[in-house]
Amino acid sequence: MSHLHLVTDPDPEPTGIGDRWQDHAACRGKPADLWFNDNIGGPDACAEAVRICNTCPVRIDCLAHAVNNGEQHGVWGGQTPKERANARRKASRLRAKAMQETGPTIPARKRCPKCERTKPSADWGRDRSSPDGLGSYCRECARLVHAINDEKRRERRRARG
Ligand code: SF4
Ligand SMILES: [Zn+2]
Repeated sequence: MSHLHLVTDPDPEPTGIGDRWQDHAACRGKPADLWFNDNIGGPDACAEAVRICNTCPVRIDCLAHAVNNGEQHGVWGGQTPKERANARRKASRLRAKAMQETGPTIPARKRCPKCERTKPSADWGRDRSSPDGLGSYCRECARLVHAINDEKRRERRRARG
């Protein structure tokens, strides 16, 4: 039996070959162990499976199926579990990096919870850690809050003597 007997829910196939991509699998009728020995064999354990996959006409469909279904085990579409995991990590690193580079989308105007006025983003200090990239209060109120906090600190120091 081929390891594709384990495939129960095939994806609609992008290659346009027939109705079921599994029907065209190069691993059909070959021993499933070849594709699922990643925990038993040494580093070359997958080599034969990968070699067969690389001749397979539905390699892309097979890989897409494995990625879409988060298959943790076995060689799919010529890729080992390790290669698929590396690709997943790389993709998530790239997503995080893109987020960091673009930063938050700064709104044109924002309402200040202190003075309760809606002001243009130019009237706000920047804060990269906030979801909208702006400080919590408008510049004017932020200055006021800072001044009050400074005064409180001075008072505390005076009280301590
Ligand atoms: S790519 Fe490999 S595992 Fe996938 S169907 Fe083809 S031979 Fe089988
Ligand atoms: Zn304000």
